[in-house]
Amino acid sequence: MSDSLIELRGISKFYGNIIALTGVSTTVNPGEVTCVLGDNGAGKSTFIKILAGVHQHDEGQLLLEGEEVTFSSPRAALAAGIATVYQDLAMVPLMSVWRNFFLGAEPTRGFGPFRQIDIEKAKQIAKEQLAEMGIDIRDTEQPVGTLSGGERQSVAIARASYFGARVLILDEPTSALGVKQSGVVLRRIVEARDRGLAVIFITHNPNHAYPVGDRFVILNRGHSMGNFAKEDISQAELTQMMAGGAELEALQHELATH
Ligand code: ADP
Repeated sequence: MSDSLIELRGISKFYGNIIALTGVSTTVNPGEVTCVLGDNGAGKSTFIKILAGVHQHDEGQLLLEGEEVTFSSPRAALAAGIATVYQDLAMVPLMSVWRNFFLGAEPTRGFGPFRQIDIEKAKQIAKEQLAEMGIDIRDTEQPVGTLSGGERQSVAIARASYFGARVLILDEPTSALGVKQSGVVLRRIVEARDRGLAVIFITHNPNHAYPVGDRFVILNRGHSMGNFAKEDISQAELTQMMAGGAELEALQHELATH
């Protein structure tokens, strides 16, 4: 039995001889942020793909509300309420904010051949949903490309939440952003969590993960270095584990002696 919304038990994924992921266990719950940390090649994308239904795990168990599942396609993961916001955000820069918010799922009015997009309603919903996340967009006709990186992430998060996501996977949402914009996105993560979403925050930055995270999975070359509740790990320890501990100490020693 599992009391968690999602539980991973010893999940592994192999590409031929390559171990992309092995022995990864963690839990994901509503109103919590599970952070997945790791450097390049650590297995973060593979972790996302298994939960998003792009790839299937080879070993271990994936439980959704206590039932063992495998998501056979992205559609199956989405139907289970798992939405992924990829780094490219799947947005059309030249299109307006409200168009990007709906992207083909716009509200309509009229029937049969007279059916058309209800533009006013669409704009109103987009504006309200964004405002609820603390984002004040003056004009939703504004092209998405004119928004800041943090605001674009915010639109993508608000969109996933509006379309019924229970679990929100964020793929390195702060990696291309400066300090201030990263702060904006971290606040969105907290807001999504406070609205009861289960958030999975993928990042290589322990300074971004620690303040917002409830649980931390650290990956290193496909191996899990541990799965920690916040009370069991300090920010310094997390940073140390991410930096490869001994390597960082050796570097500090080397720098100090020159
Ligand atoms: P990250 O997202 O943390 O950078 P990945 O999940 O992309 O890490 O990759 C983990 C490991 O699996 C790497 O060694 C990578 O080269 C390998 N890998 C990822 N995808 C494939 C694939 N489709 N075929 C073969 N090897 C892959």
